[in-house]
Amino acid sequence: IIYFFDFKIILGKNGVPVAENFRLEQSTIADKIQVGQVRVRTLYLSVDPYMRCRMNEDTGSDYLLPWQLSEVADGGGIGVVEESKHDNLAKGDFVTSFNWPWQTVAILDGSLLQKLVPQLVNGRLSYFLGAAGITGLTALLGIREKGHVAAGANQTMVVSGAAGACGSLAGQIGRLEGCSRVVGIAGTDAKCSILVGEMGFDAAINYKKGNVAEQLRELCPGGVDVYFDNVGGDISDTVISQMNQNSHIILCGQISQYNKDVPYPPPLPPDIEKIQKERNITRERFLVLNYMDKQEASVLQLCQWIQEGKLKVRETVVEGLANIGAAFQSMMNGGNIGKQIVSVSK
Ligand code: NAP
Repeated sequence: IIYFFDFKIILGKNGVPVAENFRLEQSTIADKIQVGQVRVRTLYLSVDPYMRCRMNEDTGSDYLLPWQLSEVADGGGIGVVEESKHDNLAKGDFVTSFNWPWQTVAILDGSLLQKLVPQLVNGRLSYFLGAAGITGLTALLGIREKGHVAAGANQTMVVSGAAGACGSLAGQIGRLEGCSRVVGIAGTDAKCSILVGEMGFDAAINYKKGNVAEQLRELCPGGVDVYFDNVGGDISDTVISQMNQNSHIILCGQISQYNKDVPYPPPLPPDIEKIQKERNITRERFLVLNYMDKQEASVLQLCQWIQEGKLKVRETVVEGLANIGAAFQSMMNGGNIGKQIVSVSK
């Protein structure tokens, strides 16, 4: 007997996702597994902003398939092998996949799973969905591929969505890679305190309070050299207005636009685009999946920083598969600090 989430598209491209977009059902899986397959118990599932695009029939990206109506949803997941008929996997192995079904128990093709080494993250397996997984890779490779950060160059980095999974790591990695000043933008005072008190940001701005442009001018007196953009919209327009000549935007994501029917990346307003062009500010599309040849070395780098205590990791954990829809909704609305994780079983 398993439980799974069934998915109903009731949104449309302009809708705000809610927990009720998902339905919990009970079902059965086969008694026996076939050669090449494994039976796994799910430990952790990830909810991520890109899933909003998978709720549209047209996801807007060739690398994202839409979730199908009345089929089990899937995403990043981690589990433990309970039975194996795959040569390279044994009972007790910890494994992961980008397309883990939202089920408590599943039968999966062993060749589509990656084996995990828990010691790399001090036993904190869920980190492989965050700081030592796609999220960490996005922050690290985004900065290395698009940030033009150079040690000793006295650069100021601004990060939007700064207290989220990618953003909280991006600011810390920006510092580790050589930025001399790192300023975050996030949605609550509590998030801003954590960024400065725990994660080594020099300052943080609560974008829901006060004038962001004024605070940014005060906190970045030399202008902005690198902008790690997770959110787009008004916040990004404000940051771009204060960017220096020949500076760089790391176009990581545009979450403020995901519930709107706009192309990706959304075009900048004409006055901001004019600034971008006149100041020769780069704004190239960045997709972590295009750099998977660097995955192994980059994950090792992230794990080393975690073990050395140089990369502080935060997670917001919701218990139980039944709460995954609510966890997704909460993350899209800023309910998380660090990576939003769903713990499915121990
Ligand atoms: P996350 O930042 O942990 O969670 C989303 C956060 O977005 C929320 O906590 C919320 O924080 C903020 N937010 C929501 N609506 C907003 C709005 N209208 N304006 C400003 N902020 C808003 O999620 P994540 O997984 O780390 O993803 C962050 C970004 O990276 C997303 O845009 C995602 O699509 C992108 N991403 C890109 C790649 C890639 O390959 N390019 C890979 C992974 C993720 P506040 O409280 O601060 O509002």
